Amino acid sequence: MTATYIMDGTVQIAPRTLLPDSPPEFWDQHAYLLDSDGFLLIGAGGLLLRGPDWSLLVDTGLGPLDSAPSLDGLGAVTGGALLSSLARQGLTPSDLSAVAVTHLHADHVGWWVNGTDSAGRGPFTHLPVYIGAEGWEQGRSTADPALAAAIAALAPNVRPVTDGTVIAPGVSVLHTPGHTAEHTSYVVESAGERLIAFGDAFHCVAQFNHPEWADGMDHEAVSARASRELLLGRLTEPRTYGFGVHFSDVTFGRLVDTADGYSWQPAP
Ligand SMILES: [Zn+2]
Repeated sequence: MTATYIMDGTVQIAPRTLLPDSPPEFWDQHAYLLDSDGFLLIGAGGLLLRGPDWSLLVDTGLGPLDSAPSLDGLGAVTGGALLSSLARQGLTPSDLSAVAVTHLHADHVGWWVNGTDSAGRGPFTHLPVYIGAEGWEQGRSTADPALAAAIAALAPNVRPVTDGTVIAPGVSVLHTPGHTAEHTSYVVESAGERLIAFGDAFHCVAQFNHPEWADGMDHEAVSARASRELLLGRLTEPRTYGFGVHFSDVTFGRLVDTADGYSWQPAP
């Protein structure tokens, strides 16, 4: 099995918008984590998993954006590169077996928001979509008009999953709620190694040593922290790699527990 990051776009976010509990001095001391405009640069896209006769995309990014949202704490937002990124792997959406979604946020299901027409047709709308059962029902009744349109487009093909569900050979569901109720990590096992795609349980490497910091994007803080603690244990097991969809140029890595704390060691 192979695993490849498929980029869709990027989001500039102010570090203390994402992590309001983090002290300003932390960012003074860790300025290397910020871009030249002082933002965290968050990647958006998906994880392509390819087996011998199947391929699966975990998340799809923001989708094509006509205009970037202008919100306090956000800088430039770009999206829509996913199809050309897939093409570089020699694939089109019709070659995929399914999509697996970590959660119902616009930077993960954006192609059902921005890339789908009023008749509900988009590049991924013919595919089965795995999504965490817990929260899917609440999500379907969301009051957010942008997300409601995406949910209506997703609904015909959704396959709700729960902790332990196997969605492809060697790929199973690890329910990690808190960011949202349905927030799901995917555990990939192949050739004696493991890869955990942990979605938005961690948006940036600074969170590994501060799981107690609330994440400004989390819906429910207590279970989100518990999910981060669970993942810290799982990610530091032997022969285990992590995939952080928002980690920009260090999406794949190993989390090592050192005398100085957790260290994310990027892997190709
Ligand atoms: Zn996200």
